[in-house]
Amino acid sequence: MNEMIISNLKEVHNRIEAACKLSGRNTNDVQLLLATKTVPADKIKIAIEAGETLMGENKMQELRDKDFDLKGLNIERHFIGHLQTNKIKDVLKYVSCIQSLDRLNLAQELDKQLQKEGRNLDVFIQVNTSFEESKFGLPPHEVISFIREIKKYGTLKIKGLMTIGLLDVEKEKMLPSLRLLREIRDDIYNAKIEGTGDLKLSMGMSQDLELAIAEGSNLVRIGTSIFGNRFLGKDIWNENIAE
Ligand SMILES: *Cc1c(COP(=O)(O)O)cnc(C)c1O
Repeated sequence: MNEMIISNLKEVHNRIEAACKLSGRNTNDVQLLLATKTVPADKIKIAIEAGETLMGENKMQELRDKDFDLKGLNIERHFIGHLQTNKIKDVLKYVSCIQSLDRLNLAQELDKQLQKEGRNLDVFIQVNTSFEESKFGLPPHEVISFIREIKKYGTLKIKGLMTIGLLDVEKEKMLPSLRLLREIRDDIYNAKIEGTGDLKLSMGMSQDLELAIAEGSNLVRIGTSIFGNRFLGKDIWNENIAE
């Protein structure tokens, strides 16, 4: 089992490297985040001990359950799932970044709590670039006004945009939702909103990693290709949707 995770990790790094090479990008510009939902702490530990430094969880419960077993390890944690406002305080105990900021009242409540704690937080704005109803994220046309609106929440440091691309067996179907995130980033850049000149793109999962890197991803979130299939016969997006 350990060897499996180690060799899978190598394979994923090889894929990242090859994709960077193909599009003339520097491997250092693409970070790997371990997407660890449903993965038990002992397996995550193997990846961390192999040198990984970044993981993402989708649920408060899992962050808490695994925290003890991951204590003392050098790992940065991001929240990548749908966040309910009543979980904010708990989630903030564990994470340095929330990649799933997708609505104003969440920004407002986060800011309120962060002010209380006297700290800032990195955030990515989640955008629904696949236009699938089952997915969270702001509609693409609302992103710029959203950014202008949340500038007033000084504790939130906008680091980039996040999307869950449309997954399909055909590349041609997966590409548009990834490309759209890059275009939104470029629109924001052209709008010259202070502090948004260097936004990163968090996109690319096991299935669309190469495409995402070709479209400019700076952070790929990989679960299945490293830890294996989570479960059979259940829609994986339940994990991103339900709390
Ligand atoms: C599960 C998940 C991933 C990883 O997906 P895989 O297909 O297992 O690589 C990435 N991002 C989010 C938000 C997820 O929920």
